Amino acid sequence: MSISIPSIPRPVNEPVRSYLPGSAERASIQREVAIQAAEVVEIPCVIDGVDVYTGRTVAVTMPSAHGHLLAHVHLAGPAEVERAVRASEQAREEWANLPWEARVGVFLKAADLLAGPWRDRVNAATMLGQAKTVHQAEIDAACELIDFLKFNCSFYRDILAEQPPEHSAGTWNRLEHRPLDGFVFAVSPFNFTSIAGNLACAPALAGNTVVWKPATTSALACWQLIRLLRAAGLPDGVVNVVWGHGPDVGDPVLARPELGGIHFTGSTGVFQGMWRTVGANIANYRQYPRIVGETGGKDFIVAHPSADPAALAVAIVRGGYEYQGQKCSAASRVYIPDNLWPEVRDRVRAMLGEIKQGDVRDLGNFVSAVIDERAFRRHQQYLELAHLDEVVAGGHAHGEVGWYIEPTFVRVGDPKCKLMAEEIFGPIVSAYVYPEAEWLHTLRLVDQTSPYALTGAVFARDRYAIQQATQALRGAAGNFYVNDKPTGAVVGQQPFGGGRASGTNDKAGAPHNLLRWISPRTIKETFVPPTDWRYGFLG
Ligand code: NAD
Repeated sequence: MSISIPSIPRPVNEPVRSYLPGSAERASIQREVAIQAAEVVEIPCVIDGVDVYTGRTVAVTMPSAHGHLLAHVHLAGPAEVERAVRASEQAREEWANLPWEARVGVFLKAADLLAGPWRDRVNAATMLGQAKTVHQAEIDAACELIDFLKFNCSFYRDILAEQPPEHSAGTWNRLEHRPLDGFVFAVSPFNFTSIAGNLACAPALAGNTVVWKPATTSALACWQLIRLLRAAGLPDGVVNVVWGHGPDVGDPVLARPELGGIHFTGSTGVFQGMWRTVGANIANYRQYPRIVGETGGKDFIVAHPSADPAALAVAIVRGGYEYQGQKCSAASRVYIPDNLWPEVRDRVRAMLGEIKQGDVRDLGNFVSAVIDERAFRRHQQYLELAHLDEVVAGGHAHGEVGWYIEPTFVRVGDPKCKLMAEEIFGPIVSAYVYPEAEWLHTLRLVDQTSPYALTGAVFARDRYAIQQATQALRGAAGNFYVNDKPTGAVVGQQPFGGGRASGTNDKAGAPHNLLRWISPRTIKETFVPPTDWRYGFLG
């Protein structure tokens, strides 16, 4: 029972540490990386606060040195999945009835722990397990997750204050912002520790309990997050973690009548499969499950003949290759007018020539390996396609030590070819060079080539051209950038999410998303109810 309406510390975006050579923060992260690299961790399922070691394990290795074992992850079977659902249901009432500010306290504390003593631990695990450079780990596992936690607490308080503006004479209207009437199934991808944490924490903040299935390839970092949430005081049973092959966990969870919602980030195909399963089970649920999914992308940069070639080339390199192109927002198809092509090509080629690729433990590397052998083999097939066109830079794969795909820049002849239309999710960027007179036609091509609509960017100095692109591509991206790369959305500044085949566009880290985990109850109270059934017009 709340007896006050406390304010919340005003959230500000977490400053990004620079890890400059010679700095204390650089020495500290390198120490932590060395400690974690020397261990092999046993990672259990966590059900009702209990670590469950099932003995059925998969190995987690370093993508940038795949002979290097990091962890054994203990997989859930049907019994553990059942226990996790039961634990979530049992914890629901007590967690939902906790005063909202007590729940907020857990997540604000988690944010401060992550900003302080846990920062290196979570960053180092993200570097080793997901092959992120120190900068990519810092902006993901530390800064973005801290921002998600802090901003969501503030948004949540604002939502609670939302009340009906009118009360007729003699009545009083209120809204209760209840959690959903069933547990939330959070399913997270390998590529962002911040997203993984947010998928579990956002519904929990709003009073829901959660069954969380992270990707096993992100297990090292997610295990640190689970321990961090415990340290922040998250009660047992509120977030229950089960590891496993997707359908082994997903199918039994989605069959449960108590399912209240799905909070998913991952590929389009998996999301569509889960939605189909929900559809097939729809008559069995206690309620209509809320379905929130952020999925694939085929993110574009379209340049007008007036664009600055130097800025465009840097956007291609940073937007296309950072984290090996494994960001859902990564620039993957580029449209360049023929007047700019020679300069842009040469600049991109020169930059890729300077970029170092290798083990994340060497902080001089700008890019590292792709996540696993499956991704590596898939990218090799795209490289074969690239060689049928014109490879401007890169083009080779090296799998002996780690899963390395060279940052590859391709010029394609057909603007609708696979390289321009399919999500690759690796360091392969394709460029189509269009005749500079065909700007408006090119905007239609951008809009119609791929089923996705996640991020996109226009580069132009001509203001009319910027306006034309902004309008013509209104449906082509949920996050649209003008003279900037299409990656790097910041919580509280550029709410993130896409439409079409890219997701339900519920904008992670924004009030739009939190509202999906709330089922409002309207309460109308009449102070002096009528005692005569007759209306005046009856005479
Ligand atoms: P993925 O779809 O292979 O896996 C995502 C999660 O779903 C994993 O935990 C996986 O085990 C689980 N899963 C698979 N089948 C399942 C099933 N039947 N039931 C329940 N869970 C199941 O994706 P990934 O390779 O981990 O991540 C890359 C994908 O994620 C890319 O397509 C990328 O665009 C997308 N992504 C999108 C965003 C966004 O905000 N739009 C952000 C990050 C990643």
